[in-house]
Amino acid sequence: MSLVVANWKMHKTAPEVEEFCRRFPEEIAGLSGVDIVLAPAFPFLSAARDPEARWSVAGQNCSAEPSGAFTGEVSAGMLASAGCAYVLVGHSERRRYFGEEDVVLGFKVERARQAGLVPIFCVGETLHERDAGLTDEVLDRQLSALDEDLLEAPLVVAYEPVWAIGTGHNATPEQAGEALARICRRLSKRSDLRTIYGGSVTPENAEFLIEQRRIEGFLVGGSSLDPQSFAVICRRSTRRAPA
Ligand code: PEP
Repeated sequence: MSLVVANWKMHKTAPEVEEFCRRFPEEIAGLSGVDIVLAPAFPFLSAARDPEARWSVAGQNCSAEPSGAFTGEVSAGMLASAGCAYVLVGHSERRRYFGEEDVVLGFKVERARQAGLVPIFCVGETLHERDAGLTDEVLDRQLSALDEDLLEAPLVVAYEPVWAIGTGHNATPEQAGEALARICRRLSKRSDLRTIYGGSVTPENAEFLIEQRRIEGFLVGGSSLDPQSFAVICRRSTRRAPA
């Protein structure tokens, strides 16, 4: 079963979310073998839920605190009560623009667990780090935020090289496969791990990226905004090269 997650970031107003959810079912009619997740902005979590459970919803972030006087924050418990099954933790835009560091991300994973949410933990190196030969070191450091997490708890790790996000330059299947192999080695004690790739995924490149065996699905930004292109990615994520 593959897993494909739409990260809508700070896009889509209420009518746009409604429009997507009205058109999407037709686009995915008859599709099986893929778990689909939509991550809209917080105000639209309820509107994005599917009464027929053809997809789940995720928060794009959660607070590192369980509750309290933290104006503007949204807790993992609130996400769960709004119907979320997943939450993104450590997206590179959170790390980069909001200064979220490994220790805080570890707390967020803990909060997600307490609320019964599955974390979609995002890791990836910058171009500068890759060019300096630091990719493995960066991934290891980012994954250290999971050191205190329960080994048997379900976990999704998204390898998202920062240089591939929103740039139109996806990683090659070899680059993604190498990084995901590193991630799997680092997390080899985990019993319920799914590994997905994110970074300029399109309907076109999804077709060959999915043939890399470590890529079990996608985290999709830009190409998830349109129901038709996102549905094509969902369909192509179920295709596998013959063993
Ligand atoms: C993302 O937001 O996680 C992402 C991968 O974006 P894009 O698909 O636009 O590169």
